[in-house]
Amino acid sequence: MHFGTKAVHAGVEPDPSTGAIMTPIFQTSTYVQAAPGDHKGYEYARTQNPTRSALEKALATLENGSHATCFGSGLAAADALMKLLKPGDEVLATNDMYGGTYRLFTQVFAPMGIRFRFIDMQQAESIAEHLGPQTRMVWIETPTNPLLRIIDIRTVAAETRSHDLYVVVDNTFASPYLQNPLDLGADIVLHSITKYIGGHSDVVMGCVVVKDAAIDARLKFLQNACGAVPGPQDCFLVLRGLKTLHLRMRAHCENGARVARFLQGHPAVAKVHWPGFANHAGHVVARNQMRDFGGMLSFTLKDDRMEAALQVMRSTRLFALAESLGGVESLISHPASMTHASIPKAEREASGLSDTLIRLSVGVEDAEDLVADLAQALEALS
Ligand SMILES: *Cc1c(COP(=O)(O)O)cnc(C)c1O
Repeated sequence: MHFGTKAVHAGVEPDPSTGAIMTPIFQTSTYVQAAPGDHKGYEYARTQNPTRSALEKALATLENGSHATCFGSGLAAADALMKLLKPGDEVLATNDMYGGTYRLFTQVFAPMGIRFRFIDMQQAESIAEHLGPQTRMVWIETPTNPLLRIIDIRTVAAETRSHDLYVVVDNTFASPYLQNPLDLGADIVLHSITKYIGGHSDVVMGCVVVKDAAIDARLKFLQNACGAVPGPQDCFLVLRGLKTLHLRMRAHCENGARVARFLQGHPAVAKVHWPGFANHAGHVVARNQMRDFGGMLSFTLKDDRMEAALQVMRSTRLFALAESLGGVESLISHPASMTHASIPKAEREASGLSDTLIRLSVGVEDAEDLVADLAQALEALS
């Protein structure tokens, strides 16, 4: 079955008691048993909820995995993955990553004895040189946030296969429409559903998708034991959002390309980070592992004063100044002071994230209006 058909149908069956085509919102905390232990597979809603189960089935299908587990946020999903490890274990992570994940690693799990090393993974062939005897997890984000660097998932997975470790891919920026890491050899896929999968800026949620029943069993144990479960209303909203994921992603990609090319040709712009450009360092890998290039991009101005970047961010009318990404509406943001403020300035700059970088999440409005909005904001500079 092709992606769009799966997006509309995966995981959902007409409700057996009424025929409702949409999975009902099972807003219940418990389920009545006929006799102690005699139940219909549902005992308590932290452990099982039918709305959540439908969503988990759909997500597993869209990522070509066998099982998915949903959590109350993307970071709650990352938190569960860290609990697959024990003190003394090491995580080798990409150095250009979501600020909240970096904070979770360095300020929550490092003090508990898990070790983290952050490296540039663009040279995927040499990843094995960085592995130590305690490395139990390799953490990839691709495209990276906010510099849109590309990491070759297939090569990282192949080069680390003989080691006893999990290859995790945070696939939030790509969405399952653009990239399926399990097919490329990864063990675990994480999404902040809050972004493209939810797609309408109205839900905070995360998930983990795997293809191995043993990892799934441990994650389901952690989901129930630690309790960071999403509510049924939110699961319903995401089930609804999923049905248009392929349509939204096509529009994000088309608009992303239009905006990237417009910025690239603008005299006030210094550099545009977008993997669709043939001269982007990760372009060939992106073409091989992604179906298209996505709606995220970032850029710097020729005027390298921070005030110039801030002025552009104050001047857009359609692009709203806000954190987050992946919703139908276009957003503009300043990673250094917003999403990435929890990464120390020295480390930000070492990984190439300057204080003047502007990030765009290109929405699904008409491209002409988006380009005109950026044109007037850049005009205001001169
Ligand atoms: C937003 C985001 C997260 C965290 O997800 P939440 O749902 O906000 O907890 C993790 N990784 C990436 C790449 C993100 O953009």
